[in-house]
Amino acid sequence: PRPAIGMGQWFSARASRGAHRPALSFEGRTWRYGELAGEVDRLATVLAEGGLKPGMRLAYLGFNNPMFFVALFATTKLGAVFVPLNFRLTGPELAYIIDDAGAHTLLADSAHHAVLDGVRESLCCRAFWNADGKAADPARWPALADAVAAASPWTAPAAAPAADDVAVIMYTSGTTGRPKGAMLTHGNFWWNHVAELYTMDVMADDRLLVFAPVFHIGGLNVLTLTTFLKGGHVVLQRHFDPATALAALAEHRISTVFAVPAMLLFMSQQPDFAQADLSALRLIMCGGAPCPEPLLHLYNGRGIAIQQGYGLTETASMVAALTAEYAATKIGSVGHTTLLTQVRLIDSDGGEVTEPLARGEICVRGPNVMRGYWNQPEATRQALGADGWFRTGDIGYRDADGFHYVCDRVKDMIITGGENVYPAEIESVLAGHPAIAEVAVIGAPDAKWGETVVAVVALKPGHTLGLDELQAFAGERLARYKLPRQLQLVDALPRNPTGKILKYKLREERRPA
Ligand code: ATP
Repeated sequence: PRPAIGMGQWFSARASRGAHRPALSFEGRTWRYGELAGEVDRLATVLAEGGLKPGMRLAYLGFNNPMFFVALFATTKLGAVFVPLNFRLTGPELAYIIDDAGAHTLLADSAHHAVLDGVRESLCCRAFWNADGKAADPARWPALADAVAAASPWTAPAAAPAADDVAVIMYTSGTTGRPKGAMLTHGNFWWNHVAELYTMDVMADDRLLVFAPVFHIGGLNVLTLTTFLKGGHVVLQRHFDPATALAALAEHRISTVFAVPAMLLFMSQQPDFAQADLSALRLIMCGGAPCPEPLLHLYNGRGIAIQQGYGLTETASMVAALTAEYAATKIGSVGHTTLLTQVRLIDSDGGEVTEPLARGEICVRGPNVMRGYWNQPEATRQALGADGWFRTGDIGYRDADGFHYVCDRVKDMIITGGENVYPAEIESVLAGHPAIAEVAVIGAPDAKWGETVVAVVALKPGHTLGLDELQAFAGERLARYKLPRQLQLVDALPRNPTGKILKYKLREERRPA
């Protein structure tokens, strides 16, 4: 018999062991496990009656909302595949993904009907639903909540997928070409959460605050589904706002949080950060981008261990994480690999790098590595190779104690005068300058050196900064060849919805037309 690891059963299994426990709070309302499991079952009926069959795809577009999770579990309960969409994309970009996935059913919240209206007639979808609120055009966007309220629960057995059946297709952000759909299987999710439970001490009494977008692997998988699996309480926010997030930490006595570094930075810049009551908070899981060390010190100084984690969409999130025990002593490290995941570093010729502190491209193997890219055999072959080692495109190293460090992405690395420079290292130093609110380091083409190091800086209000001063500050901590040769001041850095800096935009803006 197949092990019951299908995502479609996760929620009901937990509900049957504690229906009364609070599962999810959102904008003043709380759902218990039993209530939410009931909604999952009624939605499964609605979707099945609408023609969604095993293997078909359902796409979801919207801000964070409880319906996202209800739809995820109902879709997978039917053996269908859930495709979360990035709400920042334009109509044509969304149409490309929806058609690439061949989505049968499309759920969109009312904030995003307008962006879809221009492309809707061309889409391959057969069923359209309004995922929340009031639709301007209810005939075109019938209210899913009404249909769910009127439906009877799904009583047929949940689909019993094999471990390598696809549960979710999650599209990469596509900075290097058309977005690719990473096929994440039921087994990928299951083993990722087993690994998270081994690594992060998630507890049934935890209260997790989720403000990262859940269409992204970090918001969905790091702590969130793990907390549901444990029977914990998820407090969900529609989107990230630093003041609201900080207030929620105190108001809900939040114990755990996942954030990308930018979110932690923006919360720490709130005027009431120093006074905020963070006494219930015991774990901040931080990942998704390099975390500047001054930020780690700032939170550690408040007595809250930041545990850095490293992961990607293609690895169903977690590859490595620093456990609480080492949060203070191995600052800057992403820790050990999870128990189920292996990491190998390779040089540009594909040879293995084994020396401590020597750098190489990080390759990952384990039960959480995706099955491949949807409909893209060539891209799959390049990423996974014949041996199943997934090439991440990130550069990293291990120290003599076996702790892992992520330097930067191969494509963001700067080569100046033949030296490899990792922007993340420079950013981490510059972030400690008292005038700097946020900083990105990029390479710009240079006739003499190949590339030159450019610091793009947003200043704190009322501060000034010149290149000489910046170089003097950085020169105490960095070798000369790593020092910024140009300083560009901006109001704010361009970021994607998960808070990552869009370096390609910064590079494009500097490129002569
Ligand atoms: P795309 O692949 O479409 O360009 P993306 O690279 O942002 O998007 P994600 O899967 O969202 O894709 O993020 C994974 C990347 O985030 C990793 O490859 C790595 O570059 C970066 N990252 C994640 N965690 C860390 C960390 N702790 N330190 C440094 N970088 C990290």
